[in-house]
Amino acid sequence: MIKINTSHILPDVPYLLEGTESSDVLGLSPDAIPPLVPAGDITYRLSAVMAGADLVVTGSASVPILTSCARCLDDVRTVIAVRDLCFHFEKVRDLEVDLTDDVREELLLAIPSCFYCSPDCKGVCPSCGVNLNHGSCACASRPAEPEPDSAAPSPWDQLDALNLSAPKKAPAKKPAAKQSPAKKAPAKKPAAKKSSR
Ligand SMILES: [Zn+2]
Ligand SMILES: [Zn+2]
Repeated sequence: MIKINTSHILPDVPYLLEGTESSDVLGLSPDAIPPLVPAGDITYRLSAVMAGADLVVTGSASVPILTSCARCLDDVRTVIAVRDLCFHFEKVRDLEVDLTDDVREELLLAIPSCFYCSPDCKGVCPSCGVNLNHGSCACASRPAEPEPDSAAPSPWDQLDALNLSAPKKAPAKKPAAKQSPAKKAPAKKPAAKKSSR
């Protein structure tokens, strides 16, 4: 248990509390998705001060865990860490305060929904299941289906042509229709007058 007896805290002097706590309190499960197996104890380093009759605790906590990569399913060993813990307890002068549940909750909230063995994990081949971080498979060298697709013009090409022509013609007709009668009308009249004289 992570406990602080506030009667031990001197006025204006931060009370340091550091140590380890069994990671069993986290209740992590290897059957979860992703699997979560503690690989060591919870380590905590806390600083407690009294503000009147209230207790303010800040600090950090961490726990190492074993899990698996979301892309390639390889084992991943990582550390769940919370560096900005802050707890406030009201009216606890001369009382023993148990911080275990608060630290436990913050660590559980800090667990990401998935883990990766590395940021550029290549994952597994979707066809044969080979881990592409450890080697390549024959699937990538096989000619797949792009050949028939590129040879035969598909109905998508005709749809693209229809969609492109519709917006181009509509704005081009309007200014052309307005300009042509305005220019033609004055051009014809002086031409007709000159020929008559
Ligand atoms: Zn991976
Ligand atoms: Zn493959």
